[in-house]
Amino acid sequence: MQPLQSKLPWVGESIFSKMSRMALEEQALNLSQGFPEFQPPSELIEAIHQASLMGKNQYTPMPGTPELREAIALKELQIHQHTVNPQTEITVTPGATAGLYTAIQALIHPGDEAIIIEPAYDSYRPAIELAGGVCLPVQYNLTDFSFPWDDLTAAINEKTRLIIINTPHNPLGVIFSAADFDRLYQLIENTSIRVISDEVYEHIVFDGQTHSSILSHPGLKSRAVKVSSFGKTFHSTGWKMGYLMAPADITQEIRKVFQFLAFSVHSTTQFGLAQYMNAHAEWEPSLSDFYQKKRDLFIDALGNNTAFKVMPCQGSYFAVLNYGNLSNLSDQEFAEIVTRQFKLASIPINAFITEQPVTKLLRFCFAKNDDTLLKSVEILHRISTQYHD
Ligand code: PMP
Ligand code: GLN
Repeated sequence: MQPLQSKLPWVGESIFSKMSRMALEEQALNLSQGFPEFQPPSELIEAIHQASLMGKNQYTPMPGTPELREAIALKELQIHQHTVNPQTEITVTPGATAGLYTAIQALIHPGDEAIIIEPAYDSYRPAIELAGGVCLPVQYNLTDFSFPWDDLTAAINEKTRLIIINTPHNPLGVIFSAADFDRLYQLIENTSIRVISDEVYEHIVFDGQTHSSILSHPGLKSRAVKVSSFGKTFHSTGWKMGYLMAPADITQEIRKVFQFLAFSVHSTTQFGLAQYMNAHAEWEPSLSDFYQKKRDLFIDALGNNTAFKVMPCQGSYFAVLNYGNLSNLSDQEFAEIVTRQFKLASIPINAFITEQPVTKLLRFCFAKNDDTLLKSVEILHRISTQYHD
């Protein structure tokens, strides 16, 4: 028998699994894989529990329960002032990763080109390739994290069908403004390019700024899929609950794929989320506040007198540190040494980039208790004074 030919020959263990595993082996503080160290609201857990006891344990309608889709539409209207039709424009998915996969399968045909902006979340490229598409990465400026408008413009051609953007951005913490969306629209206005906007950190935006969504742009809205995740919003990444919003013609194709990917999503969690969201319309602004305090605690405790350079963070729950003053090692090597010798796990930014440039950047997840953050900063101070290549 011929050996099985891999569809993803270049894919190995994900950096998130690798660094979390290493953190466990080394008993290191784990600021690598992005997940909160806090519990979801107990009222939400209780609502899910009660839904199960009340018998909500069978398949739900394929695109999600009407109650949850209506709660999502209401939230979208209250928080972002977007009118979204829960019947025809919202699809509940088992997490944003599955949502992204579904939307990419619906939008990409064999041979189509899709542009991603790297560093990029690791699921975009495999999902494009599994659809038979060609993934074309362009790169953020890794010195000041500015968006690569010239490279994006140069990458667009008649085969381009899709651009994937991410705001607030994982791992760089930069955000898209309304003016950025205008600029994107001007670029693709006269093409058939669709846009997937990964907005899973939409409720985590700092310094008085507000989240600008692709759905707020009148021109882009008709060609956009917005991707959201409850995992980031309710400290529940392990539940894998998310949703897609797209105009009816795109949603129709998304649902055709989704009904054969999963058909429907965990029933009791949908009922519990709908109940909780209807009872708590006010949760969103407090999440930005909550995480801004975490960001500030981490950055302030680190201070200005270390070898690390703190990169600006406007949103998400990730801080990026440049260690170029300390080491000439690649960020993959340096992240491993920091985990094994100093017991602090982070994510090397190279892992989000196809062409391996020499970056000296590590990502730290600050969705952690204050105590964990302060202990991590103590370790960073130690690295700063003791480390030599
Ligand atoms: N997109 C980005 C940018 C992410 O950071 C993540 C996960 N952290 C996801 C998508 C996937 O979210 P989920 O866990 O809901 O699949
Ligand atoms: N998105 C999370 C991160 O960036 C991890 C997701 C995963 O483990 N696949 O850390």
